[in-house]
Amino acid sequence: MNPRRKSKPIQIGRVTVGGDVPIVVQSMTNTDTRDVMSTIHQIRELEECGCELARVAVPDTQAAGALAGIKKGISIPLIADIHFDYRLALASLVAGVDGLRLNPGNIGEPEKVKAVVLAARERKVPIRIGVNAGSLPKKAKPGLNTARQMVEAALEQVRLLESLDFDLIKVSLKAFDVPTTIEAYRDIATKTPYPLHIGITEAGPPRTGIIRSTVGISTLLYLGIGDTIRVSLTAHPREEVFAGYEILKSLNLRQHGPTLVSCPSCGRTEVDIIRLAEAVEKELLNITRPIKVAVMGCVVNGPGEARDADVGIACGKGRGVLFKKGEKIKTIEEKDFLRALMAEVERV
Ligand code: SF4
Repeated sequence: MNPRRKSKPIQIGRVTVGGDVPIVVQSMTNTDTRDVMSTIHQIRELEECGCELARVAVPDTQAAGALAGIKKGISIPLIADIHFDYRLALASLVAGVDGLRLNPGNIGEPEKVKAVVLAARERKVPIRIGVNAGSLPKKAKPGLNTARQMVEAALEQVRLLESLDFDLIKVSLKAFDVPTTIEAYRDIATKTPYPLHIGITEAGPPRTGIIRSTVGISTLLYLGIGDTIRVSLTAHPREEVFAGYEILKSLNLRQHGPTLVSCPSCGRTEVDIIRLAEAVEKELLNITRPIKVAVMGCVVNGPGEARDADVGIACGKGRGVLFKKGEKIKTIEEKDFLRALMAEVERV
């Protein structure tokens, strides 16, 4: 695994992004931002799952007007997502947001971007330059592939912000196409010192979207690229947070909540291991501390993994062996598998 790229840290509210702090997990609400209570409720749900930055869409002045109320009801930093109308970015800053996301492809003239940058500079609020392959600026240079066009569009905005003595910058370059996204991030990673927000845009519903996002985000993280991640899914945003942490845990980049090890089951399995693993997974949703739990389907290969976990079970016909911290602690009846395993998890 490559060492992490050195980026210039920025502060979004109380959360640092970039430098050598852990990679930050973020998500975006899918409530109507004008509905203050629903948006607060959803952001609190995200906070409970470990979301560290919440972004909301600001499509009109009413949504911008709701931001101050939303901010009062949440604990994590709030980022306003602005498309087309720079005046909404100005209103969001007045409302006290902690960060802005602008898409240079649809904000328009540099004068409008400039007005936003000066207001953000005054309040020390960072701006993400969020380039999407689907909405590149119209004047993109001919002859460049999509990845290069995305990089050029972002660098042009970076230069504009720097010319206004503004360096609280974060950059994202997202496409649905994974190789295009990877190529774009690899390119910009060598051309700018700012932290990178990485993700695959419009990745789809969880079944396919998590795989597509994981392939793209993990490849970049393995290359040492990325300071904050969002897994974009057509689902409740809490699924994005779960998926984000699973990616980071799989690469040993963050510890967060339980890790469930379970075998795929095979012809040796003599219990309904799929149902047991699903039930354990559901129970573990209520646990926030890091703990490794193993659910294994036989007493041939199962004990090794079960011993290796904080709490593990190797299930045989009608009975199973329970392990804790590498030690066999007891043999239990099949009807007690879930209850006994979870009781030990609670004790650990
Ligand atoms: Fe099969 Fe046992 Fe391996 Fe599970 S642990 S896949 S039951 S051999």
